[in-house]
Amino acid sequence: MRGKLMVGNWKMNGSLAANASLVTDLLAGMADVKCRAAVCVPSVYLAQMHSLLAGSSIDLGAQDVSVYASGAYTGEVSADMLRDFAVRYCIVGHSERRQYHGESDVTVASKAQRALAAGITPIVCVGESLAERDAGQTEAVVKRQLAAVIHANGHCISEIVVAYEPVWAIGSGLTATPEQAQHVHAVLRAQLQAATAHADRVSILYGGSMNAANAAELLAQPDVDGGLIGGAALKAPDFLSMLKTASR
Ligand code: PEP
Repeated sequence: MRGKLMVGNWKMNGSLAANASLVTDLLAGMADVKCRAAVCVPSVYLAQMHSLLAGSSIDLGAQDVSVYASGAYTGEVSADMLRDFAVRYCIVGHSERRQYHGESDVTVASKAQRALAAGITPIVCVGESLAERDAGQTEAVVKRQLAAVIHANGHCISEIVVAYEPVWAIGSGLTATPEQAQHVHAVLRAQLQAATAHADRVSILYGGSMNAANAAELLAQPDVDGGLIGGAALKAPDFLSMLKTASR
């Protein structure tokens, strides 16, 4: 069994003081949490979180990685640098990176490749815009996005995590219905099954305004293996409540 995986995406939020307070509260509430948990933090706070999370049951994650190994790429952070801070997961292809930083499917696939080569699990985000959903293109869009990653990483594709994040649901308060989420997750699972005999090992997370009130019904879907959570992961009581829901 895959077990549930719940990942907080802090995005560009936090400060040394706020992070310490949030993590202290989270760690104090982890006794009843049985699912896997991680937080993906801004890269400048990896050192702080590496130290605060050491020996705990919350894994450390990053939000992006360079397509390059090292060298003259000002502002970039390499996979090996992330590895230095015991980073276990790295989000790649978040819709905010695709939208605001022009990341293509090929770029996202290369980032997943870099992460895997460094022993870091890429959390590959896929998802359609509202216009694409309205035009009936949801399946085609997510399959195209995942196909690029499968093409570049076929030999170890069972080691990735996939996050289905409908763009229209991110930070909007709109959530996919459990049926909508399950439908897309099943499409993604079938695509993985065609690529690897170990597709059942791949966790497929749902992301998009998941919160303490709607997590249970989303997580009850057979192909929803956890969540990638933005806003609600910044509030310790909310994130802990979702971790406990995922632990049932
Ligand atoms: C995200 O950032 O990946 C996300 C799902 O955000 P939110 O939960 O705030 O919609």
